[in-house]
Amino acid sequence: MAYKWESNIRKVVPYVPGEQPKDKNIIKLNTNENPYPPSKKVSEMVENADFDILKKYPDATAGELVEKLAEFHGLDKSQVFVGVGSDDVLGMSFMTFFNSDKKVIFPDITYSFYPVWCDLLKIPYETIPLKEDFTIDYEEYLGECGGVVIANPNAPTGILLDKEKIIKIIEANPEVIVIVDEAYIDFAPEGSSCLDLIDRYDNLLVVRTYSKSRSLAGIRIGYAMGNPALIKYLNDVKYSYNSYTMNVPSIKIGSAVIDDDEYFKGTISKVVKTREWFTEELGKLGFFVLPSSTNFVFASHKDKAAKDIFQEGKNRGIYIRYFNQPRIDNFLRITIGTDEEMKKLVEFLTDYLK
Ligand SMILES: *Cc1c(COP(=O)(O)O)cnc(C)c1O
Repeated sequence: MAYKWESNIRKVVPYVPGEQPKDKNIIKLNTNENPYPPSKKVSEMVENADFDILKKYPDATAGELVEKLAEFHGLDKSQVFVGVGSDDVLGMSFMTFFNSDKKVIFPDITYSFYPVWCDLLKIPYETIPLKEDFTIDYEEYLGECGGVVIANPNAPTGILLDKEKIIKIIEANPEVIVIVDEAYIDFAPEGSSCLDLIDRYDNLLVVRTYSKSRSLAGIRIGYAMGNPALIKYLNDVKYSYNSYTMNVPSIKIGSAVIDDDEYFKGTISKVVKTREWFTEELGKLGFFVLPSSTNFVFASHKDKAAKDIFQEGKNRGIYIRYFNQPRIDNFLRITIGTDEEMKKLVEFLTDYLK
């Protein structure tokens, strides 16, 4: 050990996000950002901004944004919690709700930040293997546990779990909190969300983000919706840790874009259309593609190793995501970009795989 104090500090192996290359010419399909610009409400907001307000602290409750989100989703503001991206919301939720000696459970293949928060916060957990077809075996989530986390649709598989099965999980676990991470739900068929269940189940927390469907990964806004008692406990922890997390520009911009629903829906339908076209193209090129309800696809080629395709893509300036992890190390996670970007990727693959 290098230092005398080594054994007394908190150590954790951090989550590793996808690369953010500086070169603007790169086709960047590795972190599930939206290829389309955010709503014009953002530039309007910035142009007309009164910068004098920045001398003051923000509203610690982010009241304006909470109210807008509540109105947009037809909820009361006591049912909404906002944070600095859904990573912040999820981290706070793990800290608040997972405080039992029993193990928190989530799939073996899912958002790789979940085990990191458990390690950091010393929360016992167990991962439950996805089935062979990469779907979630919901029956494995009905026993006693310290809490449940389900990304729905799941990442990086892109597969959506039936709401009926999630209901069974929620009903089997009334004594613990079930977190449904809906980072990609806006790209899934209508009616897939668990949001309408929060009035019925006081142990359900639904988490959303502006990063993917709203083209605002850079603004850092995420939010959770659930029973007012859950939201209160979440706020108690947040105010005991760092009160002023939401900055003024984020609160303002986050509130403004909510009104631009038409643009939001238009962007999503473009991404979904490109996803369907691209999935077909991948099939023609010899890829096996999992059924995606997100803005990315998870695919494996019949002959060529995923790692080699990933590396060659990178050499040619096309970034996709490769996970060197058991079970999925022959898969590639490819974000849906613009039609033009996806055509360039298809050209590269056609050339490389011939
Ligand atoms: C992208 C992502 C998040 C985090 O998004 P933020 O940018 O922090 O809002 C959370 N969960 C899943 C499953 C994601 O893919």
